[in-house]
Formats: sequence, C-alpha cells, structure tokens
Amino acid sequence: MGEFDLIERYFRQPVRRAALGVGDDCALLRVAPGHQLAVSSDMLVQGRHFLADTDPSALGHKALAVNLSDLAACGAQPLAFTLALALPSADPLWLEPFAQGLLALAHAHDCELVGGDTTAGPLNICITVFGEVPASDGRSQALLRSGARDGDDIYVSGTLGDARLALEAMRGQWPSLPAALHAQALQRLHRPTPRVALGRALRGVAHAAIDVSDGLLGDLGHVLQASGVGAELQIAAPGRLMACGAAALDACVPPRHQLACVLAGGDDYELAFTAAPGQREAVQAAAHASATPVTRIGRIVSASGVRVLDAHGAPVSGDWRSFDHFG
Ligand code: ADP
Ligand code: MG
Repeated sequence: MGEFDLIERYFRQPVRRAALGVGDDCALLRVAPGHQLAVSSDMLVQGRHFLADTDPSALGHKALAVNLSDLAACGAQPLAFTLALALPSADPLWLEPFAQGLLALAHAHDCELVGGDTTAGPLNICITVFGEVPASDGRSQALLRSGARDGDDIYVSGTLGDARLALEAMRGQWPSLPAALHAQALQRLHRPTPRVALGRALRGVAHAAIDVSDGLLGDLGHVLQASGVGAELQIAAPGRLMACGAAALDACVPPRHQLACVLAGGDDYELAFTAAPGQREAVQAAAHASATPVTRIGRIVSASGVRVLDAHGAPVSGDWRSFDHFG
C-alpha cells in the first residue's frame, strides 16, 4: 500500500462543515460570521506519551481527545482537524483500528478530518484542531487562563489522578490493586473524555479555564500566573476525585499517594476553571447541561502560590511536581 492509497483508504473523509477536505493542497474551512477560529496542536510520540504495545484504537481516540481538550478549555466548538502521521510501516492491522478510534471520536464531536501529512518514520501522531468561539466587536467569548479573580471558586471536572495510578500499576507498583479498579483507571489513561460540552456551557460563566494535561497543580499554576493571583485548595478525600477511588482503593494505595495522583498525576484531560461565588448555580447548570460532574476544590486568593489544605483546613505539604518534558 502506497502513501496515497493509505490516505485514500483510511483518512479521506467526506466533509460537510468544511468547504474542502482531503485531496488538494489546502483544506478550506468556513468560519461563521461573528466567530473567531481557535487553533491548537498536540503531538503524541511513541516511548514518550505511549508505549509501543498501546492499542491502536485507543491511540487514535487519545490523539484527538487531547486536542479536543484544548478546544474545550477555551470554550470552543470543534470544527475540523488535520493529522500529521509518521509511521514505521503501512500496516493495515494498525491503521484500521487507529482510524476507527480516531474517527469515532471525530464523529461524536462533529469534527471533520480535512487534511494532514503522511510520512515513513518512527511512530509520531500530530493533530491540529480548529474550532470556533463567538466574538463580537473584537470581544471574544473564549475562556482564557488570564481571567481568574481574587475570591473566585476553583472547580475541576470529572476525575483526576487515574491515568497516573494506572501507569504505576502497569509498572507493578500496586500489586494488590483490585482488577476492577485497575481497569477503571486504565480506561481513563487510554480513553480520556474531552470536556467539550462543559467548556462551551461555561462561556460567560467561568472567569478562567485550562485543561489538566500535565497535573492539576502545574496547570492551575499557569492560570494563577497568567491571572496574577494564588489559590487555596481543600481536598479532603482525594479518592473521591478519582474514577477508581472506591473504598477498596484505601486498602492498597495510601490516601497520601492518592493525593499526589490527584494533584500532580497528569494525562487527565479534565477542565480546571474558576468562577465567582455568585455563579455557583450557573456552574451547576452548566455541569448538568453537559452531563459532566464538577467539583469545587478551592478558591482564588490574592497572595501568589498554592496552599493545599486538609479536611480540617490545616496545610498539607508535599513535593507535587507536574510533568515537564525537559524538567
Ligand atoms: P502536499 O504534498 O501538497 O502536502 P500530500 O501529497 O502530502 O499533499 O497529501 C495529499 C492530500 O492528502 C492533502 O490534501 C493532505 O492534506 C491529505 N493528507 C495527507 N496525509 C493525511 C492524513 N494522514 N490524514 C488526512 N489527510 C491527509
Ligand atoms: Mg505533504
């Protein structure tokens, strides 16, 4: 199978929203009047972001999910994406499930594959997504990192820490972790859920948002820095923020380590966002409308830095470093 047969067979998709998809030198996108184009790229590299034996269908899902998560964090509606792919060989046993996992998530979000590039080389998947956000008179409704204000509540969507726990369990760190909990955590590692509907519902409600890809503390830190504020987090029962956080988890993973997973785990693809206390009902309405659970975990304060408090309000200390490729 040659390069062009490969594109034709697995990646050429009919388009409806785009004016022109795969097959020419450029794709052509329509942007609705009164909107801005939101653009983001993310790359997945074998050995760095995933292991060689990762299920190709999960990989297709995740490659797009991590990109959609960035659109979600901006409150953007997905439109289209491009796929730049380096492959060691044109293996249908890999390409078929990869394309299936990728395109299933694309269809679920009505996000069209409109172009890309295909080359031979060590496995590397780079996606660029395009989305739109309403804007009028130069005022964008995009959610940004820079909008957090003193006194805001801090929230996270869904669950945190499972991806890290799953990786540790794969490496043999938690031999007594029940299989059902390991499976739940693995699902979060391999098939993260981009919170697109929640991000959209939070436009005009949240002051600031980011997606949690490298770990809550590190990513929240970007919001704090961009907004010139600090935060106090109160995480009384970290297990309750984990998908696999059943009572049985406490028997095999110390709560202190659960806290480390929640605060610094990474690979979660949830949203962390802030909103004024007067918007609590609006936040719940956004959560309800998007069928996405959200949890209030703290508040924005004027003093810089993050203080983590236990259930009694006493400070908890720890070395919770987020992921940094060159750190
Ligand atoms: P060019 O040489 O002009 O960059 P290519 O020959 O690389 O174009 O690609 C031909 C067409 O196939 C282009 O429209 C390109 O966007 C599309 N394409 C290439 N690789 C992929 C891919 N992995 N997924 C989707 N479309 C692709
Ligand atoms: Mg090309």
